[in-house]
Amino acid sequence: MRKNGFTTTNLHLERWALPEHGALRKPIHTSIAFGYERAEDLAAVFQGRQKGFAYSRQANPTVQAVEQKITAMEGGAGSVCFATGMAALGAIFFALLKRDDHIVASRYLFGNTASMLSTLEQLGVEVTFVDATDVANVETALRGRTRLVLVETIANPVTQIADLQRIGELCKARKLLYVVDNTMTSPWLFQPKSVHATFSVNSLSKYFGGHGAALGGSVTDCGGTDWTDDPGILDAYKETAPVEQWGLVQVRKKGLRDFGGTLSPEAAHSLSLGSETMALRMERACDNAAKLARFLESHKAVVEVNHPSLLNHPQSGLAAKLFRRPGALLSFSLDDRYDPLAFMSCLKVVVNSTNLGDTRTLGIAVAPTIFFELGAERRAQMGIREGLIRLSVGIEDVEDLLNDFQQALDQLGG
Ligand SMILES: *Cc1c(COP(=O)(O)O)cnc(C)c1O
Repeated sequence: MRKNGFTTTNLHLERWALPEHGALRKPIHTSIAFGYERAEDLAAVFQGRQKGFAYSRQANPTVQAVEQKITAMEGGAGSVCFATGMAALGAIFFALLKRDDHIVASRYLFGNTASMLSTLEQLGVEVTFVDATDVANVETALRGRTRLVLVETIANPVTQIADLQRIGELCKARKLLYVVDNTMTSPWLFQPKSVHATFSVNSLSKYFGGHGAALGGSVTDCGGTDWTDDPGILDAYKETAPVEQWGLVQVRKKGLRDFGGTLSPEAAHSLSLGSETMALRMERACDNAAKLARFLESHKAVVEVNHPSLLNHPQSGLAAKLFRRPGALLSFSLDDRYDPLAFMSCLKVVVNSTNLGDTRTLGIAVAPTIFFELGAERRAQMGIREGLIRLSVGIEDVEDLLNDFQQALDQLGG
């Protein structure tokens, strides 16, 4: 039988699982605990011999419906949801790493992820940051104790693209865990499974929900990992699950049961509603971003535009090969003569906001805000100009966005 497409599956999957009363969506189950008539059944659920729910910190029916949806979107083997994207990333490290393990991570990481890795260093995990746009840098950094490689698909704010396919082949050959943060692309633009990722991580707070009204995160096991000899798996979990599930079972037990970064059923429902339109939203936002990038590039007050749709982007070819679209995040710099904060204050449609992945276009001057703590010297090392402005392009009518930038640029004068 022909397989249904991304959006058809996305819209009907919950219904096909036959929820209560013929509901078209999985209802919001707020019960923390679940009761059984037979004590034997409760014991069997605890021991993993029987499907079912016991306590919502670890599993809940409404959250499970979203997990199944993400698994379908990612083409994966299974998923676990978390309260936030940070909780999802943290759960992988917390569940699978030990002291003296070594991680190779992209140098161009989401700031809070980089900060989390520095916490791991305090706990005895070693981290090497490399320019992951070239697999050679990752390979050079590998050591005997290297367990895991962490990259993002499109980096924020300068939009560098990791050498995803080659790093995947390297990790597969060396039997390393390969974690790909897919937040910036979403499962509509890219499936990390296609580059042999072990886990795909999504911040559901961004393009997944799209509405900017609920936080969430997910870890998807992309399948195909042989966990038999993985030194991070505890013996206790080897008896309760088939070997291909060991990694994800441990992420759920350690990340949810023990660490408690649980997604609430209300947020799960809200994220699931938003995700129904993911493909439509992403297409529109990516179109808008490419048009805005071209417009900004042609303006004399703009000295630099970063977007993978532009031919002068160092990885534009890679983006075209790997991703359905080159993404909806862009950044640009005004000529040093202009004050980026004054410029941002002139925008009327674009919101001054730190978030991204919202249906509304959000903009932020990077140096005085999200990269302020780093100081000018570190910013320069990371290729971040003092005037850099990041835009998370939304789904507005593109003429209104272009007009908004035109009128703000006109106010700069010169
Ligand atoms: C936002 C973001 C995160 C963290 O997600 P939260 O849901 O805000 O915790 C992780 N990685 C990337 C690439 C992000 O953009």
